Amino acid sequence: MSLIEWQSLFEDVFESYPDKWALRCVYRHDSSQNRRLQNKRVMDRTGYARFHCPKCSNGWASAKAKITLYYPKYDEPIGTVLLRFYGQKCKKCDGRKLSFADPEFEVDWINLTLEKLYESIGCCFYGKQRPEKPKNDYNKVINIEGPHESKLCEACQLGRCDQMPRNKKNKT
Ligand SMILES: [Zn+2]
Ligand SMILES: [Zn+2]
Repeated sequence: MSLIEWQSLFEDVFESYPDKWALRCVYRHDSSQNRRLQNKRVMDRTGYARFHCPKCSNGWASAKAKITLYYPKYDEPIGTVLLRFYGQKCKKCDGRKLSFADPEFEVDWINLTLEKLYESIGCCFYGKQRPEKPKNDYNKVINIEGPHESKLCEACQLGRCDQMPRNKKNKT
């Protein structure tokens, strides 16, 4: 699913809030934008996605595909959520200078992710109660052949991949 499709699902989920909310993309090469995100609220999600190499015909799947959603704190202007895709590199083209392929998630997963975000934003800005029991998470186990290769994974390189040992933080 491309950004445009994410945006149209986002609009459907967020349409019931009184303020207008929009989803925009964070560009991996925009370092000043990436710096500004450091004190935003964060929702990290990892799931199954497919990737297509921008350089060759190779395609692959990963259960460790990752995104981060950034949303405002209480005292910040509301209305914008930023989406960061973490890419993976093509194994066949490894060694050549190449760009990351962005993950293409399934619609159901995107919707569950956006609903979770909708709830979090409801708690922050619209006085909603957090649901007693969190909605069933998308924890369908998907078996994918082969190990996760950190050198091909952008999130690993940034220290944000679930494959990496890390502190439990930002649990949403
Ligand atoms: Zn390739
Ligand atoms: Zn990784």
